[in-house]
Amino acid sequence: MTGIKEKLQELKIDFIENASLKRYNTWKLSGNAEFLVHIHTAEELSSLYKYILANSIPYFIIGKGSNILVPDEGVKGIVIRLGKEFESIKINQNFVVAGAAASFIVLCLNVAKEGLSGLEFGAGIPGSVGGAVTMNAGAHGSDVSKVLKEVKILDETGNIKVLKNEEISFSYRKSIIQQKNWIVLEATFELKSSIKDDIVRITNENKEYRLKTQPLKEASCGSVFKNPLPEYSGNLIEKLGLKGYRIGNAQISEKHGNFIVNLGDASSKDVVSLIKLAQEKVQEQYDIQLNPEVQFLTNLGKKG
Ligand SMILES: Cc1cc2nc3c(=O)[nH]c(=O)nc-3n(C[C@H](O)[C@H](O)[C@H](O)COP(=O)(O)OP(=O)(O)OC[C@H]3O[C@@H](n4cnc5c(N)ncnc54)[C@H](O)[C@@H]3O)c2cc1C
Repeated sequence: MTGIKEKLQELKIDFIENASLKRYNTWKLSGNAEFLVHIHTAEELSSLYKYILANSIPYFIIGKGSNILVPDEGVKGIVIRLGKEFESIKINQNFVVAGAAASFIVLCLNVAKEGLSGLEFGAGIPGSVGGAVTMNAGAHGSDVSKVLKEVKILDETGNIKVLKNEEISFSYRKSIIQQKNWIVLEATFELKSSIKDDIVRITNENKEYRLKTQPLKEASCGSVFKNPLPEYSGNLIEKLGLKGYRIGNAQISEKHGNFIVNLGDASSKDVVSLIKLAQEKVQEQYDIQLNPEVQFLTNLGKKG
């Protein structure tokens, strides 16, 4: 697409052309981004975003890439990553303000050490604070919506806004941020003071449970499908005997039916074939539709 490179240069934005996204997604899928930009200040982001919106440039913001499917053919337009400058975590009494690029795991462990309760569920959820808020990440009966006070976003007109929890329309692994394509800059969590030893113990138990039940040594995106509650996608897939089923180098995990693991240079085509296979078999056998939790980077990005 002509003009993007020149504009990025003019705005002095840190970018790579035809960048492999392999190291930016936990599935280790290898598609390229036409332009991968690293943003270092809110001002940079604001001018880039205004340019994207004014010119309808396809774009996609990624956090730590722990819940995205990168297509083999790559993505057109601009993939945006927020840099270290967006990683701050500030604790003030029982409120915590975290930058969108901060590690969600680090956030959860830091507040546990301060005797603040509410984020024990998240200590094993990889990804960034921005990704966790957007996805309403959760586990062990809780999720972000239960502890988020407010979030600072860049809206679809390029303006910064602070939205209260009630304005984010949280539901299971969903928020209005996904639909509106807003960019999370910062999140404030409201936690409760509690007994530090109890918080640390629960946090550690949650992490150990993950180690026992999830294939954490292999590349994955975590759960591929949302759970069609009261059923669990992993159980349905396991009951069909699909654990261990392999297409190319992508495999339905032998350890957890809702994980697809990359055994080494799997293509997104193989991963998508496994996703379709699981969906078809579950539909056929149980008349239940499995909906992906993982977010697909489309070849057109998200339209500005
Ligand atoms: C081993 C493993 C275990 C997991 N376990 C869990 C679990 O227990 N519970 C759970 O909920 N998830 C789980 N996940 C999925 C994933 O960790 C979460 O969804 C996480 O919150 C995604 O964060 P991220 O920064 O990696 O986002 P990405 O994967 O980079 O992006 C995911 C979505 O968030 C959007 N996004 C990211 N950053 C921003 C931003 N700053 N502003 C706006 N939108 C943004 C992206 O556009 C995309 O739509 C697991 C993943 C793995 C690999």
